[in-house]
Amino acid sequence: MTNLGTGNPAIRLENVEKSFGDHVVLQNVSLSVGAGQVFALIGPSGAGKSTLLRCINLLERPTSGSITVDGVTIQTDHTIKPKELAALRSRVGMVFQSFNLFPHMTVLRNIALPQQRVLGRSRADAEDRAHALLGRVGLADKASQYPARCSGGQQQRIAIARALALDPKVMLFDEPTSALDPELGLEVLTVMRELADEGMTMVVVTHEMQFARDVSDHLVVMSDGGILEEGDPHDIFSGPRHARTRQFLRAVV
Ligand code: ADP
Ligand code: MG
Repeated sequence: MTNLGTGNPAIRLENVEKSFGDHVVLQNVSLSVGAGQVFALIGPSGAGKSTLLRCINLLERPTSGSITVDGVTIQTDHTIKPKELAALRSRVGMVFQSFNLFPHMTVLRNIALPQQRVLGRSRADAEDRAHALLGRVGLADKASQYPARCSGGQQQRIAIARALALDPKVMLFDEPTSALDPELGLEVLTVMRELADEGMTMVVVTHEMQFARDVSDHLVVMSDGGILEEGDPHDIFSGPRHARTRQFLRAVV
């Protein structure tokens, strides 16, 4: 669902740069994601996709540039106040390739505990919300199960529910299905598609070209730490402007 809205973008990156020592990993990256938009981020391994995603919630601190999420702006070359950092992070949910669930806690507690710790919700409220979200990702019957008893696709859906439980304004996904076989990956992609249809603002790093083409509103192709091209996914798939994009698409489609 495209919902560009008229207000400020949900996510805006301006001239983001990131180096590890002498190694420049992101160079002059600017990006603007409207509320309700779904961006797919593709490109070869090492292009900087994960680093860019991690910069959005400052899991990785950019060397320079500014990051805005839902009205909270951080100038990364200034001192960052803990309150600003917390405000930004509270707006961003993130789902990784590895699900990172707590193995010694039930599925329900995995989703409830962060709400209690981060948002100060009561245990009862947090568990109510966890039950509701488990229903939403199709796992209402798994509440009292332990993660190890769930399939990879189920664990990833639990990880999505856990992120949603903190009421993020935007969701970031870093190759959420690449550790899963295709059938289990599809369960996860279906949940992501529903989330997109409900109007969640999402940035998805993915190798799933079908998802990029059919679900995303906007495609961003990265290579060597920069944005090679961006635009309507169908346009880019049918007529990539850069030879590097063509080469990449030939290899993956
Ligand atoms: P992608 O997700 O597109 O495969 P990454 O963002 O993971 O790319 O990596 C981009 C580049 O940054 C790679 O050359 C990688 O080796 C380097 N890089 C990523 N994280 C670090 C780090 N913590 N320290 C040093 N180099 C890193
Ligand atoms: Mg990556």
